[in-house]
Amino acid sequence: MMDRLNPEQRAAVTLPSGHALVLAGAGSGKTSVLTSRMAWLIQTGQVSPHGLAAVTFTNKAAREMLTRLTSLLPIDTRGMWVGTFHGLCNRLLRMHYRDAGLVQTFQILDTADQLASIKRLVKANNIDDEKFPPKEIQKFINACKEDGQRPGDLDAHDPHRRRLIELYQLYQDQCEREGVVDFGELLLRAYELLSRNAPIREHYQRRFKHILVDEFQDTNVLQYRWLRLLAGEQASLFAVGDDDQSIYAFRGANVGNMADFERDYARGNVIRLEQNYRSCGHILESANALIENNSGRLGKNLWTDSGEGELVRISELASDALEAQWIVDEVRALIAEGKPRREIAILYRSNAQSRVIEHRLFSQGLPYKVYGGHRFFERQEIKHVLAYLRLMDNADDDTAFLRVVNFPTRGIGARSVEQLADLARERGTSLLRAIPYLQGRAATSLMRFATLIQDMASQAQILSLPELIEHVVHHSTLLAHYQADREGAERLENLQELVNAATVFVGEEGFAELPAGRVPEAVPGESEQAMQNPEQAAASVLAPMSPLGSFLTHASLEAGDNQAQAGQDAIQLMTIHAAKGLEFDAVFITGLEEGLFPHENSLFDPGGIEEERRLMYVAITRARQRLYITLAQSRMLHGQTRYAMRSRFLEELPEQHIKWLSARYTSSPMQSEASSGAFRRGQSWESKDKSYSAQPYGGRSHTSVLEVNGQTFRVGQGVHHNRFGEGTIINLTGQGEDAQALIQFREVGSKTLALAIAKLDTV
Ligand code: ATP
Ligand code: MG
Repeated sequence: MMDRLNPEQRAAVTLPSGHALVLAGAGSGKTSVLTSRMAWLIQTGQVSPHGLAAVTFTNKAAREMLTRLTSLLPIDTRGMWVGTFHGLCNRLLRMHYRDAGLVQTFQILDTADQLASIKRLVKANNIDDEKFPPKEIQKFINACKEDGQRPGDLDAHDPHRRRLIELYQLYQDQCEREGVVDFGELLLRAYELLSRNAPIREHYQRRFKHILVDEFQDTNVLQYRWLRLLAGEQASLFAVGDDDQSIYAFRGANVGNMADFERDYARGNVIRLEQNYRSCGHILESANALIENNSGRLGKNLWTDSGEGELVRISELASDALEAQWIVDEVRALIAEGKPRREIAILYRSNAQSRVIEHRLFSQGLPYKVYGGHRFFERQEIKHVLAYLRLMDNADDDTAFLRVVNFPTRGIGARSVEQLADLARERGTSLLRAIPYLQGRAATSLMRFATLIQDMASQAQILSLPELIEHVVHHSTLLAHYQADREGAERLENLQELVNAATVFVGEEGFAELPAGRVPEAVPGESEQAMQNPEQAAASVLAPMSPLGSFLTHASLEAGDNQAQAGQDAIQLMTIHAAKGLEFDAVFITGLEEGLFPHENSLFDPGGIEEERRLMYVAITRARQRLYITLAQSRMLHGQTRYAMRSRFLEELPEQHIKWLSARYTSSPMQSEASSGAFRRGQSWESKDKSYSAQPYGGRSHTSVLEVNGQTFRVGQGVHHNRFGEGTIINLTGQGEDAQALIQFREVGSKTLALAIAKLDTV
């Protein structure tokens, strides 16, 4: 185990108990060190597997960590606390649901469910959704929770904020009534449970001797507080991270946690690793040079002894369709050279980019797998089935009720549902439970729905989980609905996939023989622990879950990667965010255009640009041997054709480490499309390399042009506006009357102007 480590890594792995921080760049072995330290602590008898907790960033990473651990040491990892913050908090709350003030069957709202729930609240309380857009309320609530604040902790400086705080409280009451928690609530509840309940806190503080955290730079304030509480005075906290890879500030991550941790805990114990074992020289130097452009870094210098390797290849295509085509051609060449498909990753900034690439891969018959992003469990048809299952498991779940009460349509109108909602409010109960009290015409059809749910729920006592899901798909008439739909084939496949996922799930969890609704006797590991700690057993009730309940939790917390195909050798597609911590032999980074990457929301905020640059740093450092970067001169996004400038990040890559593969397009987009077609045909990348040898990047020669009312506009062009003054065109979209320009004005910031109307002079 130690042989493979370099001296600094070994020092980190074998540090004596106490807090420590490993601060090191990408690919320097942080995750390897963390896993080796777990194995070393166990092997040297300093701690039992039970006395360790490890926090990772994704469920996938947690699974990999356990796999690596068992390959180093033959131990039983069941009952070990290795998972994401959300996963571990969920576990804590399931164990101690009573003390946490939750119902045993509490279910988890994902982001979309949360928004639906807020919309419902806004409507029920006659709130003006122009003044209080549900998304704004959602952002407000989540930010408060990430800061550990309840409505009562907040000050209302002005009427608008006072109303938001009231809405937060109303939303909280609604969740309580319906027995659901959102993602932020999982963390906050778990934090409050530990901070308020001394016996439980002391129990866990006694249990965990070592707590290890990967990707520490992306923890938020509440997560850090939770860790400190869990660690108490005795446990050793071991955190690894890289400030240059902090990419979740937009979701409340606080890179300042690293400095705080160093000050409060690690003090002298900071280890730096500088050798990169992942990427070849040109790739690593490109990443180093790029990130140099950020300010306020903690500062690291990465080197490699694995040689220069190949130059970074950059290719500019006329359109997103051609970009996808070019990538797929390269992918085929790589596969022909013998590269396994799973070692090829295609990364993008925004989920919307994947469709074109997927389409191309699909039409070429290349197997691929999309991670994260549009998660399997978020697909419409899957959410419908899950809503039936949730309603069977928890009759108070009004969000689930509203999703399926009239889907597939069964003649239950909006009026009937409103009537039911009024009645439920009067009686202080949920929608499903209020049905029997309903009078009049609406009653019959709603009663039929209640019976349907009841019948399904009774099947849960007989059928296994996969059988139950099949039953629900059939009896809810979802099956018939999608069979009748001309475009339902893919949805039917996904429904089958859900049954497969349930089969894998019950197998892995040891639930195969159990009816879906039956609660098993005891959870191994946890209950035995409670026996040894009568104090804790008294303080809380253990809550093992039924296969159905656990599966619903799994569906909310997992990315829902297509498990049934996990073993298949497929090309890997994902957003850059989802690629964090991973590595591949060959990586494509796509869409290097201003407004896309860096993302348009970040363009006018220096902090935003730096976060985008860290994202690009993460993307580059995923590649081992070969890195491709692509960009398109025009792109269909959200139903509009957009023309954009080359990303500023391309300029930040040193010339000696890159090579431009494509001919430079100096003509109009139409012509360049044709020329790129010629360039593409029948050439392997080898011959392309020769014919299009290193093109120096000649600054911004702009080809993205729009003509409106005889006036020609170009991306990058200077303009003058009567009111706003001087500015530069950043982005052009649409055509004719719909043509718009995103302009960065020197004095007033960015504005989007309709070109047919705005009086712009070109300068
Ligand atoms: P990231 O910042 O991207 O999360 P990391 O710092 O966690 O990266 P690892 O994923 O642990 O880095 O390691 C990167 C690669 O280097 C892995 O393939 C790992 O097996 C390999 N590696 C780490 N240390 C060594 C070593 N001492 N000798 C050889 N290979 C190593
Ligand atoms: Mg890592």
